[in-house]
Amino acid sequence: MYYNDNTIIYFNGEFVNASQASTDLYGQSLHYGYAVFEGIRSYAVEGKAKIFKAKEHYDRLRHSAEVMKMPFNYSTGQLGELTYEVLKKNNFIDAYIRPLVICTPNMSLSKGKESHLAITAWEWTNGYLANKMRLMTSNYKRPNPSAFHIEAKVSGHYVNSILACQEAKDNGYDEALLLDNNGFVAEGPGANVFFEKNNILYTPARGNILPGITRATVFEICSELKIPIVEMQFTPEEMYEADAAFYCGTAAEIVELDSLDGIAFKKQWEETLSSKIQRAYKCKVLEQEFIYS
Ligand code: PMP
Repeated sequence: MYYNDNTIIYFNGEFVNASQASTDLYGQSLHYGYAVFEGIRSYAVEGKAKIFKAKEHYDRLRHSAEVMKMPFNYSTGQLGELTYEVLKKNNFIDAYIRPLVICTPNMSLSKGKESHLAITAWEWTNGYLANKMRLMTSNYKRPNPSAFHIEAKVSGHYVNSILACQEAKDNGYDEALLLDNNGFVAEGPGANVFFEKNNILYTPARGNILPGITRATVFEICSELKIPIVEMQFTPEEMYEADAAFYCGTAAEIVELDSLDGIAFKKQWEETLSSKIQRAYKCKVLEQEFIYS
């Protein structure tokens, strides 16, 4: 359950009870997936809620709205303040935050006339994420970047994610790995992918992926730890040869991948650079010093 009778959200200019907030059925957001959103985490830092990379997330939300030509006038600073207020009103510290921009009633196929912002949040327990995932190469490709603004976080894109994720689960896997339209590895339904081989990390270049904020954080960590990263195109067959691999995203953080299409990655996780990056990421979000050993 994401909310109860006491949960407060920000919606359309005011703080309201989640169970009393409502929207109409005559909108492009619901009918066509014409909405943009973010997924953000807050962590307990010195006993208080601290949002990780709020600026980056809200800059991306504003960018998503802009490329979708949605009217949206909140500044990044205002959005951050409103989010802290939502957390405070609910007494949330470790939380997942989901801002959503939807358009007001209009069933046409032209741009939205006015938007409404909802900032919802729920307490984060990490309970539903696997800690070691068996992947299946999906038969569903990522949306074609010449048909969508693939670098924006648009609700409609996630129909593709649902198809791929469910296909993987129906086939007995934990999660899907999606390819781009040329057959190269792109990303997961809700996460970016990296693999490690001979102490070098590899990840798909931008172009067919949502360039994640966690992915950018992995780049930062690798630069701090002097771990080389190569951005390039590669096939699932090349990834079969990896020593280790991980998914990364705001919700998943850094999650170990066990195998791809039944082929296990070669090294013990604890012996990999990937596991160091996983620990360094945890330290970064908690604002703790990472002792590299
Ligand atoms: N790719 C997709 C398709 C996603 O939905 C997400 C989650 N937002 C990511 C990558 C990772 O992005 P981030 O690190 O910004 O959460």
